This record gives sequence, structure tokens and C-alpha cells, in this order.
Amino acid sequence: MAADELKQLIDNAMEVEVAEYGDEASKEFYRLLKEREFKTTRCKSCADVALPPRMFCPACFGTDVEWIDLPKRGKLYAFSQQDRALRFSKPDVIGVVELEGAGRLLTRIDAPLDELSIDMEVEVDFLDVSENETLHQFRPVR
Ligand SMILES: [Zn+2]
Repeated sequence: MAADELKQLIDNAMEVEVAEYGDEASKEFYRLLKEREFKTTRCKSCADVALPPRMFCPACFGTDVEWIDLPKRGKLYAFSQQDRALRFSKPDVIGVVELEGAGRLLTRIDAPLDELSIDMEVEVDFLDVSENETLHQFRPVR
């Protein structure tokens, strides 16, 4: 098989994977982000909050879940810098943000590394990376 044929096969396989990535809950999560809504799911039976969101409850396996607002502010639990950025212009800062009542979320941090410290208060913002994709990111509260 020629090298460019192989490359084409790999490209096609990756497109399928990207198009079908994510279950119903994560598709809804990203659709809401596009509308500037930051939400996850909560179980109506046992009130367990799932992050990432799930269409079933990871605590009691119930399927009656509702969408609730996540806190707009959280605390920076950990952070680092990717010297080889995959998605954004480098250097790209990523972090884990603790959201009260919901848990921890891996996210992009929109601030230089040397302005960050553990436990600092950060707030959510939205980043349109393409026409169809919006991501969450956090930056320090000024
Ligand atoms: Zn439950």
C-alpha cells in the first residue's frame, strides 16, 4: 500500500472517531457551552451531581437526571503548561478547577503560568474554537 493511501485511511478513521465521539450527555454539555451555559447533571433520586455529566446516575444507576447550573467560580486545584500545545497556540496553560458541590474539572486556563497560584479563585469563560465547538476555560478573578 502506498504511503499516501495509508495516510488517507488513517485520516478517514480519525474523522469517524471525532464525529462519533461522546455520548448523549457530553453532546448536550458542549451544545450548552455554545449557548454560554455551564451545566452538568444531577440525579433526581439521590441528588448526586455527576461531572462530567451522565444520562444515568453513577451513584445509584438511576436514569432520572436533570441539568443544573455549575458554579461560575471555583478554586484552582492544580495547573501546568503544555510546551507542545495540541489545540491552541503555545504555551498553553491547563489546570484542574475545584467546583463546589460538583467536583474537579480539567480545563484550559486563560492566563500566563506565572500569574497563577494554588487555591486562587477563578471564573469560567467560553472559548469558541470553531463554528461548531465551544470549550470552557477559566481565568483568575480580578
Ligand atoms: Zn442517583
